[in-house]
Amino acid sequence: MPLIPLLPLFHRFNREYFDGLLATGSKSLVSVRWSDGRLTNTAGFYRRVFHNYLVSEAEIVLSTPLLANLPLSAVESTLCHEMIHAWTDLVLGIKEGHGKVFKEKMAFINSLQNNFQVTIRHQYPIPSKTPKWLAICPLCRSRVLCRRRFKSAACKKCCDKKYNGNWHANCILVYEPVPQTV
Ligand SMILES: [Zn+2]
Ligand SMILES: [Zn+2]
Repeated sequence: MPLIPLLPLFHRFNREYFDGLLATGSKSLVSVRWSDGRLTNTAGFYRRVFHNYLVSEAEIVLSTPLLANLPLSAVESTLCHEMIHAWTDLVLGIKEGHGKVFKEKMAFINSLQNNFQVTIRHQYPIPSKTPKWLAICPLCRSRVLCRRRFKSAACKKCCDKKYNGNWHANCILVYEPVPQTV
């Protein structure tokens, strides 16, 4: 799924579940954006960034790498979760993480619709990292992408064909780093 614009979704949820309190008119109290490609430890987060003690900016960031290929419900669920954090912080002035107030709001939102479920933890698979190595067989020149190097691993095909399935030093794979694109 291509990345969808988050602000319209934010305003809709704000009206439906937060009594419009997360915006003043059409201006949201918190900025909402997609992350760059590096946010993989969480599907999303809410935070307040302070500038010189007085001014603070609130933002919700959703993970592009984790959510981009998941159904819309994953985006909705994550955004709603972070909006609850924004609401407890900015509207109620409470710091509690996933406490009583958070859980009550979560249950309330989940009871109102069946399109998505807000959960305490974002449970999405982390996409596997790009393979870092090319394993190359010195005999048949076959190349296989892999994430780590195995010491003395040999090409199975060549061991089978030339050495009756026995490991042989002639077939030990040689590793070359894959040029990284990110
Ligand atoms: Zn949370
Ligand atoms: Zn080979």
